[in-house]
Amino acid sequence: MSECACGGDKNKLIYCCSGASDVGEISDKVARKLSALCFGKMTCLAGIGASLSGFVESAKAIEENITIDGCSVACAKKSLEKIGAKVKSYILTDMGLTKGQTPPRDIIVEDIVSKIMGGKK
Ligand code: SF4
Repeated sequence: MSECACGGDKNKLIYCCSGASDVGEISDKVARKLSALCFGKMTCLAGIGASLSGFVESAKAIEENITIDGCSVACAKKSLEKIGAKVKSYILTDMGLTKGQTPPRDIIVEDIVSKIMGGKK
């Protein structure tokens, strides 16, 4: 799990799909950057997928679960919704990225991070 000096905003958990595609890779980089900037605390989507009680209970108890998905299949969003957790969803292909045509460059990651931190979709 990614940590920063302040531990992140304790009222927000950040999940990314970490998919195999380019946009999936970008989702992972964006989540790590947001966590490093203390926008929230990155945690593990796999813990939700595996139905591990600690992860599931944390997701249900938190004020805001932020999901960052590479594409509109929305694996992270659906995983959280499936357990009844509250979700604020960001889908990178809805934010202007094209799956299969977007190399995971730093400038793209920074742009998405800025949009999310600025509250834009
Ligand atoms: S949301 Fe899209 S990119 Fe992410 S894991 Fe699912 S199918 Fe792959």
